[in-house]
Amino acid sequence: MTESEIIEKIKAKGFKITPQRRAIINALLTADKPPVAKDVHKEVRNKHPGVSLDTVYRNLNLLAEIGCLVKINLRNSEKSRFEILKHHHHYHHHLICLGCGEAVCLEKCLLDMHTDVLKNEGYKIVGHAFEIYGYCPSCCSAVENGDVKK
Ligand SMILES: [Zn+2]
Ligand SMILES: [Zn+2]
Ligand SMILES: [Zn+2]
Repeated sequence: MTESEIIEKIKAKGFKITPQRRAIINALLTADKPPVAKDVHKEVRNKHPGVSLDTVYRNLNLLAEIGCLVKINLRNSEKSRFEILKHHHHYHHHLICLGCGEAVCLEKCLLDMHTDVLKNEGYKIVGHAFEIYGYCPSCCSAVENGDVKK
């Protein structure tokens, strides 16, 4: 998604484009890897010193709700990273390192394995979440060397 596609989507959902909102989108688009909310806040504050971390969180959650970004690490909101849908155009899942927070995008979805059950149960599915946690190769070797990162 480009900046203008994201802005179009926000407008289509009935939300306003504020300079702060635009700055948050820009911080997400220019980051070299999915940032945590605090990183976004730091970046946005350069231009808009009055923006609170709370506002940043609210905007990030809004962008996630309308499908412009994917929240990574659902079980620890302070360490959650926010991936704008730049390379991937759809919601997807992640393999997450508990040491450094690095995330690998997963291409396949487990939901596809359960279509029969989902159909038979007669549920109307409105959402699902799935993440795999572990340690990346460099965090694994840090653990082996007794150099454990928190
Ligand atoms: Zn790691
Ligand atoms: Zn991803
Ligand atoms: Zn899925």
